[in-house]
Amino acid sequence: MTEEVNNKQILFKDYVNGFPKESDMLLSTSSTISLKLPHGSNGVLLVKNLYLSCDPYMRIRMNNTAGGDTDSFTPGSPIIGLGVAKVLDSGHSNFKNGDLVWGMTGWEQYSIINDPENLFKIEHTDVPLSYYTGILGMPGITAYAGFYEICAPKEGEYVFVSAASGAVGQLVGQFAKLSGCYVVGSAGTKEKVDMLKNKFGFDEAFNYKEEQDLDAALKRYFPDGIDIYFENVGGKMLEAVILNMRLHGRIAVCGMISQYNGQGDGVQNLFLLVPKSIRMQGFGVNHFYHLYPKYLDMIIPLIKNGTISYVEDIVEGIEHAPAALVGLFSGKNVGKQVVVVAHE
Ligand code: NAP
Repeated sequence: MTEEVNNKQILFKDYVNGFPKESDMLLSTSSTISLKLPHGSNGVLLVKNLYLSCDPYMRIRMNNTAGGDTDSFTPGSPIIGLGVAKVLDSGHSNFKNGDLVWGMTGWEQYSIINDPENLFKIEHTDVPLSYYTGILGMPGITAYAGFYEICAPKEGEYVFVSAASGAVGQLVGQFAKLSGCYVVGSAGTKEKVDMLKNKFGFDEAFNYKEEQDLDAALKRYFPDGIDIYFENVGGKMLEAVILNMRLHGRIAVCGMISQYNGQGDGVQNLFLLVPKSIRMQGFGVNHFYHLYPKYLDMIIPLIKNGTISYVEDIVEGIEHAPAALVGLFSGKNVGKQVVVVAHE
């Protein structure tokens, strides 16, 4: 007789307009699941979810007309997102029971993974496992590819990072320092600003919510202009940055979170890209996973020897996942937002 257990799930209720709310998601406690795959299940995995990642792109999957190559969530089904999980029953020859993996999974205690080929097997377990939602996962490779490949930094250049204390931004700032750049970050609270300067080694940081005039704030920190802008927020910040970019500057467009909820200001001065010969380039992390092994080789020793710090905002319990996800859009998270579903 196979054991059936309760499987708490966070269901996506319906498509969202404007800011997401906790009530756009629903905790379901009525599902059960067998902890053994049915006989003859080939090519699939049964996993126990350990950590779930809250990421800004998930808001875009809440629209009913998701853009680009991002599909919408299915109303009535569990939210889908990145996470860290343990294989309980493997029907795939690449995985065995007990393996630890990270990749796309469901917001539920246990998931059946139908496409395990897309999961990454976790080989280094002498670092916190939750890091595979952040520095050792998608945000890490995003910061690495965006900064080194798209921004192409040179020693001594002036770098600005917005949403700088978040999952991606805190790494970009530290990579900029490792590259011998001068780096300034913006964030939405005093606590975050202090963390940028004191924990991550940014040369300067400011609270964009307290600045009446973003152009003046940038001029204060970059009297000679900005060479590299790592763009995470869009809108008025982008407009102010463009005014302060130097000749041949680079703008890596990683994200524009101020526009994901349908709000957002139009940028009026993009024409300045022409006289300043600025290269502004969007990029999606999905096109850079081939660099992941090289990135791990670089980052794991830096974590272990304390050169790189990583701050996580960890909440315990899958029932708190909706609030954690929604909190990204008001800056509640301090560092990478992680939800603990189970400790191994
Ligand atoms: P995060 O920074 O950990 O969390 C989001 C942060 O954005 C919040 O904490 C908040 O911090 C800030 N924020 C929220 N609404 C804002 C607004 N209206 N204006 C300015 N700041 C706002 O998130 P993350 O995972 O590192 O992602 C950062 C950016 O990278 C996002 O745009 C995301 O979509 C993008 N991204 C892109 C890729 C890719 O493949 N291109 C991959 C991963 C992430 P404050 O307190 O500072 O406001």
